[in-house]
Formats: sequence, structure tokens, C-alpha cells
Amino acid sequence: MAENAPLFDRVALIGIGLIGSSLALAMRLHGLAGHIAISTRSAETLVKAEDLRLGDSYTLDAAEAARDADLVIVCTPMGAQGAVAQSIRDSLKPGAIVTDVGSVKATTVRDIAPHMPDGVHLVPGHPIAGTEHSGPEAGFAALFPGRWTILTPALGTDADATDKVRHLWEGCGANVEIMTPEHHDRVLAVTSHLPHLIAYTIVDTADQLEDETKEEVIKFSASGFRDFTRIAAGDPVMWRDVFLTNRDAVLEILGRFTEDLTALQRAIRKGDGEMLETTFARARAVRRSIIDAKQHTPDVKPNGDTT
Ligand code: NAP
Repeated sequence: MAENAPLFDRVALIGIGLIGSSLALAMRLHGLAGHIAISTRSAETLVKAEDLRLGDSYTLDAAEAARDADLVIVCTPMGAQGAVAQSIRDSLKPGAIVTDVGSVKATTVRDIAPHMPDGVHLVPGHPIAGTEHSGPEAGFAALFPGRWTILTPALGTDADATDKVRHLWEGCGANVEIMTPEHHDRVLAVTSHLPHLIAYTIVDTADQLEDETKEEVIKFSASGFRDFTRIAAGDPVMWRDVFLTNRDAVLEILGRFTEDLTALQRAIRKGDGEMLETTFARARAVRRSIIDAKQHTPDVKPNGDTT
């Protein structure tokens, strides 16, 4: 490979929302792709991507974008991954690498792997980075630096293919870790899916209050509620898919959470201050470990806005 040659000659991005457009910008910034072919479902989004100059070629036909690509990155909601894989399978060249960015990994394996022709390498991935915004205008190259991306290649996946996907993410500034899809889905059920479910519930509960109280909830939201509204502002389609696809892990962790919540409810009713204080102190210590691991900063856009 010539010095300064891009990591991949031709990359196809299927789906160009927040994650796809952030990847396009990061790959361009860091010289990781020679040609970026963009495909999306609607003509409207395709025009936006072109106006934003996110790629080098644009098409509504995923198979056309994937043709001759060295790397295909599926950046659609998870519910669409199977159909996308089916539509591109015949245009994938031997040796091509297919990856994705979906938030649940067992489903990627279930929905994409059966469509992969022999000689094509599937290396599923998930960047643990995001904002509540969607669409091609929401992307920014600085989404990934300092964040983790988890790769979940099946046992026996070509090591060079996994290394190339790792180098792509590292080239975008991310840290990379490899684990099984099942382990990924259990960990994310705790760190991401349950918190979102709780946030959606709290915000919805507040929304059902009578009008006068609702106004005050907005007015005094800085006391805690506001942070839940940010978490609950994620794209409804994406989060619907998360709970439909990571059902078992979420239900298991939700069961444990419900037991712990009931224990706290009992402590409040009985006036058991010691139990409350011990639980809150343990939880407070977790915050310290997150700060020590440098994972506490909000996502920051290049213009300084936090999301
Ligand atoms: P997004 O901004 O809503 O963009 C979704 C893209 O997929 C758009 O190009 C959209 O096309 C296309 N699409 C939507 N439905 C489709 C369908 N049924 N068939 C084909 N294409 C379809 O989404 P995103 O936030 O980038 O999320 C994309 C993936 O990244 C999801 O799998 C999600 O789990 C994962 N992820 C998201 C975050 C986050 O914080 N958002 C973080 C990590 C991982 P049109 O606009 O043309 O309809």
C-alpha cells in the first residue's frame, strides 16, 4: 500500500443519518476512504447528503452503492438490516467487508449473516456514541474521538478483516474493544437500554400530569427531569428496534431493577434512612469510576454545543 493511501479504496454507506453522516465526515477528515458511495431510502435524504457533500457518489439503490466496495457500512435502523443485506448480497465483491453500527448485535448476526456470500467478511460493530438528533445534518466528525466502538466478529472471522474495521474506527479517533454479540447486548442492556426505558417512562409519566403541574415540571426541570428528557429524546424508531431486538437481555435486567426499586420503595415507606443512604452512597461511587474512566463528558459538537 502506498504511503498515505486510504485504508479502503471504496466505502459504501447504506443509510446516511446521524451515524452514517458522522462516519462520512470522519473518514473524509482522516483520509480513510478513497471514494465514499452513499445510499439512502428516500430521495429527500439523498439530496440533503449531496448538498452537504458527504460523499463522492449518491444513489437510492443500495446494491449500486455496494458494487465494488471494499467496505460496506450498514447505518440504517436495525429493523431494516435484513432487507438491506438481501438487497446488496449479489453486488458484493469477493473479499469485501461488511459491517454495521446497530445498537444490538445478536440481531445483526441473525439478520445480516445469512445473506453474506462466501468470501465476504462480516464484522458487526456498534459505536457507543450518539446524540438525540437524526438525519444527515446531525452528523459531525468529532462524534467518535475518545468513545468506544465494540466489534463482535463471529469466531473464525478473517483476522485481517476485523483488523481493518478496527483501524477504521481507530482512525476516526475511537477506542475499540472486541466481544461476543451476547455479551455486548447484556452490557448495553444495563448501560444504555434500561436508562432509556426509565427516561421514556419518567417523561411520559410527567406528560400525563394535569396541565398546571406539567407547566411547573417544565419550569423547574433543571432539578433532574431535564437530564431525563435529553435521554428520552432519542429517535423513536431506533429505540423501538432496540427493545424489540434486545428483548431477553432487557427483560432480565428490568426484572432485577424492578426488585431493587421495590426495595427502595419499602425503605421509603418504613423510613429506613440507613438503607437509602447506603444505596445512594454506592451509586455515587459509580459516578467517580466513570469520571476516572474519562467517559463522563457529554457529546460535544465542533461548535461547542453539547447535545
Ligand atoms: P437516522 O439518523 O435516523 O438515519 C437512518 C438512516 O437509515 C437514514 O438514511 C434513513 O433513510 C435510513 N433508513 C431508515 N429506515 C430505513 C428502512 N426501513 N430501510 C432502509 N433505510 C432506512 O439513524 P441513526 O441515528 O444514524 O442510527 C442508525 C443506526 O445507528 C441504528 O441502527 C442505531 O441503532 C445505530 N446507532 C445510533 C446511535 C444514536 O445515538 N443515534 C448511536 C449508536 C448506534 P431516509 O432518511 O432516506 O429514510
